Amino acid sequence: MTGRLAIVGLGPGSPELTTPLASGTLAAATDLVGYGPYLARVPERPGQQRHPSDNREELARAKQALELAAAGKSVAVVSSGDPGVFAMASAVFEAVETGKPTWRDIDVTVVPGVSAMLAAAARIGAPLGHDFCVISLSDNLKPWDVVMKRLEAAASGDFIIVLYNPASKARPWQLAEALSLIACHRASSTPVIFAHAVSRPDERIDITTLAGADPASADMRTLIIIGSSATKLVTGSKGKRFVYTPRHVELVES
Ligand code: SAH
Repeated sequence: MTGRLAIVGLGPGSPELTTPLASGTLAAATDLVGYGPYLARVPERPGQQRHPSDNREELARAKQALELAAAGKSVAVVSSGDPGVFAMASAVFEAVETGKPTWRDIDVTVVPGVSAMLAAAARIGAPLGHDFCVISLSDNLKPWDVVMKRLEAAASGDFIIVLYNPASKARPWQLAEALSLIACHRASSTPVIFAHAVSRPDERIDITTLAGADPASADMRTLIIIGSSATKLVTGSKGKRFVYTPRHVELVES
């Protein structure tokens, strides 16, 4: 009998931000597949098999999960945040498309999660209140020229820009180059947010400006939000600051 496969978003870190549907799907699975540190966030259940893997092997992990489901298991593949945002859901569907014909009969579902950008935005106000673009700076899976072309389009279109995967030990220079490009299109006073480990115990959120943004302060667990020309930084009477983008937009002359 063919089993089932659910691709489950765990949210950005805190168990409170894992949806009841995600928790229920994980509890009902016979087998859990995913990157080791993400699996470690799922409560242990007797009788459930865990298949931890390396972070880089997305397609191999997807195939392994489909093999288990084809053998009749009820499989949950875990992702952080939302599984459809730079995560495992695409890898599973790619494996279904290109893999064994019988895999197309497997009941595959996607259980959404709170993507890190939504949790980060909620911490500091409403920076994503108007049109925004989400771009991964990782050039592991696409050429850097493509990243720059998309950044240029997003920046010249005056979109709020969210950067995922801004930096890692193997990719130390990309963020500085990306910020320089965006600075050609935006005022130096544009609000910029560095959100690190959102909803984790070591969460740190820095509000700065395009001129003040320090690329060296980002790592693999950081995401960055760069405001549009309409995004505002407001300081409350007790010094608490928030960032928001209004719901209305004026026509800006360029
Ligand atoms: N599917 C995930 C994104 C995976 S890509 C989601 O929807 O959130 C990995 C990138 O996500 C990291 O490099 C970082 O930019 C961002 N990220 C994931 N969790 C984060 C968190 N708790 N705080 C800040 N950024 C996070």
